[in-house]
Amino acid sequence: MEKEKKEARNFIEAIIDDDLARGKVQQVVTRFPPEPNGYLHIGHAKSICLNFGIAKKYGGRCHLRFDDTNPEKEEQEYIDAICEDVRWLGFDWGSHLYYASDYYEDFYKYAEELIEKGLAYVDDLSAEEIRAYRGTLTEPGRVSPWRDRSPEENMTLFRRMKAGEFKDGEKVLRARIDMSSPNINMRDPVIYRIKHASHPRTKEAWCIYPMYDFAHCISDAIEGITHSVCTLEFEDHRPLYDWFLDHISIENHPRQIEFARLNVTQTVMSKRKLLSFVSEGLVNGWDDPRMPTIAGLRRRGFTPESIRAFAEAVGVAKANSVVDSAMLDYFIRDDLNRRAPRVMAVLRPVKVVIDNYPEDKVEWVEAENNPNDPGAGTRKVPFSREIYIEEEDFMEDPPKKYFRLSPGREVRLKHAYYITCTHVDRDEEGKIREIHCTYDPASRGGWTPDERKVKGTLHWLSAAHAVRAEVRLYEPLIREGEGEFDNLINRDSRETLTDAFVEPGLKGIDSGRHFQFLRLGYFFSDPDSSEEKSVFNRVVGLKDTWAKVSQ
Ligand code: ATP
Ligand code: MG
Repeated sequence: MEKEKKEARNFIEAIIDDDLARGKVQQVVTRFPPEPNGYLHIGHAKSICLNFGIAKKYGGRCHLRFDDTNPEKEEQEYIDAICEDVRWLGFDWGSHLYYASDYYEDFYKYAEELIEKGLAYVDDLSAEEIRAYRGTLTEPGRVSPWRDRSPEENMTLFRRMKAGEFKDGEKVLRARIDMSSPNINMRDPVIYRIKHASHPRTKEAWCIYPMYDFAHCISDAIEGITHSVCTLEFEDHRPLYDWFLDHISIENHPRQIEFARLNVTQTVMSKRKLLSFVSEGLVNGWDDPRMPTIAGLRRRGFTPESIRAFAEAVGVAKANSVVDSAMLDYFIRDDLNRRAPRVMAVLRPVKVVIDNYPEDKVEWVEAENNPNDPGAGTRKVPFSREIYIEEEDFMEDPPKKYFRLSPGREVRLKHAYYITCTHVDRDEEGKIREIHCTYDPASRGGWTPDERKVKGTLHWLSAAHAVRAEVRLYEPLIREGEGEFDNLINRDSRETLTDAFVEPGLKGIDSGRHFQFLRLGYFFSDPDSSEEKSVFNRVVGLKDTWAKVSQ
């Protein structure tokens, strides 16, 4: 048993188990540290599930910390959206909501400590010069002419930087580490820059702002984080994370652990690109159902459970890889298969007239709500002489393997009768006006006493009872294939069907409800729905392409 448990844990849990066993850590504390410069996406969801999941598993806690050290791109709208999304995913930070900007005084104090110790200096080189002096992977860096300023001079200059005496870019504060280090991050990294910008929270109080590497480790230490889990690109920054904490007077020294970021096919995770989709109008905002944002996935009709199950299945790894977007579809399909009531809808209607069915008759046939959930019960659906079926469920000259409706062919109408097509009626342009059929009264419920077989079963709606609805179908924003990113963007990724119909029971349905439209996929009533008109998003089709691939 014990052995099995050990094998099942991931490498991060192995590290934590070890830290707990050695008494290095008593209570596990993690954090999720988003920069409020955009909405959260599915990659962030992975990180949220991981950090909050670890805290939960070990009976510890997870902080939500806004990494708001870049005053220019950060907005309150993003802060609010991030809080909402983390909560919606099912996680709770309790009273542990923090902002890096709450620690500005601390960062400043530690910067002065480094100056006093001769471990930081004010540099007058420009940004370009600093870059040029930094060297390359094969070439050591060159020292700045300002590197040997005395601690007193550095202190005076740094205080003057803080007082606003210099312009943006005129001076920076750098850590004095090692310009010939093989790790470029250790070549005297910049730790403070001048930015005369108003910050959403601290307003005009500061005109110098700390760099990420300096602010992040100190924020972690102040909050008593034990395990600072981040993505792989920070692996080379870890020596710097440790160096800062080793050289300032702070007690805690969290352990940074890196894992591979989540990438998903046919989408992008870069906030910059996602922002450009929004600002260029490619999508209707951050919560457009095509966006890989949590807000977009929610509006599309994904459930928190499906996203958590996806994140769990992806697991944590040390090597970067790309997950097939079909895997995400698999988890929402799996969840909705269990919980979504089945109903009938016709997206592209064509009328069928059943000539031998009495004109004024209406029968209410019994339909099961969910074959996977015996408790879900049944409902009554009206059947009458004129019905709608799906345009693509009829073909006048069908190929061999086409088992749906065509002249002379008999098919089953789900929950109702067998019908046989006799002829079609076309308008002047040749477009089908009506398909004419006869029905077999003995086939009510979908079978006959002689047990003859029909190969096709169609969904349908009584034309007189059907309720008009808008249905939105989506394709991935990014096409599969190689080449320039811009050429792969699918600018035609949404199809809006304004002439679709649903069962009368769905009239005026609230937004936020899931359904399986028989044979068509899983759908979700969009917030755009009103009393007059329901709007449904297709969450995902019925066909699973991932389960097969993954076996
Ligand atoms: P950028 O730095 O480009 O603005 P970011 O995606 O790194 O974008 P952050 O707000 O810094 O944005 O991310 C918050 C947390 O989410 C970080 O700890 C980061 O490592 C994690 N994270 C971001 N993208 C992914 C991803 N694709 N997979 C897993 N974790 C991610
Ligand atoms: Mg980041």
